[in-house]
Amino acid sequence: MALGLPYNPDFNGPSQDGVGPYQATIANGRRQSTAEAYLRPALRRSNLTVRIHCHMMGLLYEGRRVAGVRYIAPDGDQREVRVHREVILCAGAINSPQLLLFAGIGPADHLRQMGVLPRFPLPGVGQNLQDHLLVGVDCFTKDKVALNSAYNWRNTVRYVLTKRGPLASNAAEVGGFYRTQPDLPTPDIQFIFLPAIEEAHGRDGFKATTVLLRPRSLGYIKLRSTDALDAPLIQPNYLADEADWAPLLAGVKMARQITRHPALGQYVEREVYPGQNVVDDEGLMAYIRQAAHTVYHPVGTCKMGPAGDKTAVVDAQLRVHGLEGLRVADASIMPTLIGGNTNAPVIMIAEKAAEMILGA
Ligand SMILES: Cc1cc2nc3c(=O)[nH]c(=O)nc-3n(C[C@H](O)[C@H](O)[C@H](O)COP(=O)(O)OP(=O)(O)OC[C@H]3O[C@@H](n4cnc5c(N)ncnc54)[C@H](O)[C@@H]3O)c2cc1C
Repeated sequence: MALGLPYNPDFNGPSQDGVGPYQATIANGRRQSTAEAYLRPALRRSNLTVRIHCHMMGLLYEGRRVAGVRYIAPDGDQREVRVHREVILCAGAINSPQLLLFAGIGPADHLRQMGVLPRFPLPGVGQNLQDHLLVGVDCFTKDKVALNSAYNWRNTVRYVLTKRGPLASNAAEVGGFYRTQPDLPTPDIQFIFLPAIEEAHGRDGFKATTVLLRPRSLGYIKLRSTDALDAPLIQPNYLADEADWAPLLAGVKMARQITRHPALGQYVEREVYPGQNVVDDEGLMAYIRQAAHTVYHPVGTCKMGPAGDKTAVVDAQLRVHGLEGLRVADASIMPTLIGGNTNAPVIMIAEKAAEMILGA
């Protein structure tokens, strides 16, 4: 706030700008997965069968209709499931396009190259990959005030017995969103304050991280092989677009300003990364190239859009263009990366998908 960023008690409220607390999906002191919050309570339903440790590997077709899926069962056998109505693919932004490619749905040239019959050419499958990139300003603190020293037996026992204390923290408790240019329609940088440092060497420290919210760089997912158990080729192309550099650089400078302001600076012993000797843009860019990493928010590889858009994979009802009985419902359908964390928006996509399926 001392640097002109307003306090915002709710980033999901009327305005996203400012600094404040993050909301988290925590119940009874534990982070909740969708399996825990949605699936487990529904397990007793007679119309639900869950098969775990199965690896999906392809689709079954009846003409243009998707009639079921092929998968590898835990015993290594290949099995099939036939569907009465439709298949909903939710393997995420990395694996949903991989599975469509295995099934012959995707860019025809790439499929031919990999020896897969292009059954339904859709050039957008696996394209348009977007992800958030994160860079940290890491500092040692003078005193033991961070989570590093909180990882001790006393706090562990406290957490296990009461689900309270420092170890109940999700670490990313506070942060903010701001615009590196005043005329931007929305924030382009997210700030996450992490009260712990990775390479602690017995010390305490914190990370002031900068996330590039609206990257222009586009990557892609392709097949590396036709082995269903093989990971796909992931080319994120971070910072390939020159336009992504300026906001990220401005963000790292702002993170440094925050750590150096007396309000926080009084606790700082020294900056570990990028380090005091990095003073100019060139040095900071070299640091970004070496230290930036994903926030694990990949989206966009089965993008939603009208049939006229050659790069679109699903329509507004999440149905794969040109086929019947196949929808995709996960982060891959986002046409553009949202300016925030992706978990809650994907849950929203799933809830909306459920309504669409019921209404069909
Ligand atoms: C380490 C990490 C930390 C994150 N932290 C946050 C956070 O703090 N806040 C936030 O908002 N978001 C966070 N995210 C992002 C968030 O988890 C994702 O955006 C969200 O889970 C995406 O949902 P999805 O349904 O698209 O994909 P996923 O959640 O990845 O679900 C896809 C599922 O498909 C399964 N699958 C894939 N291929 C196959 C196959 N061939 N056969 C069978 N099953 C298959 C996978 O095992 C997985 O269970 C984080 C992600 C990671 C990885």
